[in-house]
Amino acid sequence: MSNTGKKMLESALGVITKTAKGLKLPDATIDRLLESDAVHELHFSVTMDDGTEKIFTAYRIEHNNALGPYKGGIRFHPNVNRDEVRALATLMTIKCAVAGIPYGGGKGGVIFDPKTVSGGELERISRAYARAISSFVGPEYDVPAPDVNTNPQIMRWMVDEYVKIQQARKTHYTKSQLWATFTGKPLDLGGTLGRTEATGRGGVIILKALLSKLKTQTTNHKSQANSNTQSLKIAVQGFGNVGYYFARLAEEEKFTIVALSDSKGGVYVKEGLDVDATLKCKKEKGSVAGCYCKGSVCNIAYGKTISNEELLELPVDILVPAALENVINAQNMKKIKAKIVVEMANGPVTEEAYEYLTKQGVVIVPDVLANSGGVTVSYLEWYQNMKGETWREEKVNKRLKKMMEEALDIIWKKSVAKKLPLKQAAFEVAIERILAKMV
Ligand code: GLU
Repeated sequence: MSNTGKKMLESALGVITKTAKGLKLPDATIDRLLESDAVHELHFSVTMDDGTEKIFTAYRIEHNNALGPYKGGIRFHPNVNRDEVRALATLMTIKCAVAGIPYGGGKGGVIFDPKTVSGGELERISRAYARAISSFVGPEYDVPAPDVNTNPQIMRWMVDEYVKIQQARKTHYTKSQLWATFTGKPLDLGGTLGRTEATGRGGVIILKALLSKLKTQTTNHKSQANSNTQSLKIAVQGFGNVGYYFARLAEEEKFTIVALSDSKGGVYVKEGLDVDATLKCKKEKGSVAGCYCKGSVCNIAYGKTISNEELLELPVDILVPAALENVINAQNMKKIKAKIVVEMANGPVTEEAYEYLTKQGVVIVPDVLANSGGVTVSYLEWYQNMKGETWREEKVNKRLKKMMEEALDIIWKKSVAKKLPLKQAAFEVAIERILAKMV
């Protein structure tokens, strides 16, 4: 896996280098864009349920803060490694710049498998990590959030620990401003309505806006351009927070969801499946595989079980990898049939596959745009905390829609004007914005 981290880092730095060279930036400026400001490697000890003390290794990497405080999630995963966290921190800098929010980029991670620890152990690990980063995070300096295997409950423990430490230090911040150090929190600790759905919602907003842009363009995308959402078939890989909300909200927008999967496998229902019935069935069975649900009825005759690999190769219009990195790669790129790929996971399409598919005319919506709804609503949460405000959900969703549509619009215009794929255009927009503020 550290190999995967290395690959991810090479590919993130590779895209920045290529874009910066295209912009004719001097080498010294390119080096500054590639380097991280700070790499914190942390080691802390936690008492396990059996009374033994265990040492955990963790990271917080702060890449660039030209546009504002370092911003980015914390993942709990056995494969977390320095290169991967660095790649993800770098991509957060780009993502926040693409989203047009006043943040730089950072990322954190703790190396362990959360599935193998008890609830009490998970809480003690979360609190210990918050203590370990407490001297360098803060509402105006570095603002963590959830990522893979972390959630509002984990943010609750972390922010609680952090506030206790800061209050003992007699900070000038109000409690609500201290809460702003972490986003993706539960509502009673300054969380915002709309944050849980935000990443999926943002992806659907981008998809709809993209389709209407393709419609007005005379391209070879006539199959998508001339159809209404209902006739567009979508396959979503991943049924966690991101995949589930993307699928559910796309269904609400009348797209036809024909396939879903989780880590154990998936289902394919040709005529379209029911997302919430599938979720209910997954909760009962422990897996999406075998949940062939149309309307509220699940019946084996409706569909078939497929593997995660098969899902990617289905005859669909839109493919949404919303789980892991590098799933569309040199091995399967020639078998991809979708004409639009929406990168809801971070880094699901490798560089090689990206180049191949782009040449084939596939439109790939890059992760730094497609999944930026999460960090955009994190910003709205932070903003409310800093100002002591509480917004209604409609206000959050309206702002999210406006911000995402604006982000796409600027990238789309650049992509058309310079004949660049969306990813290249997104990186150019981001780098220009960062450079304008970098001292
Ligand atoms: N972990 C999410 C991401 O990769 C959200 C980050 C945040 O809200 O700060 O975009």
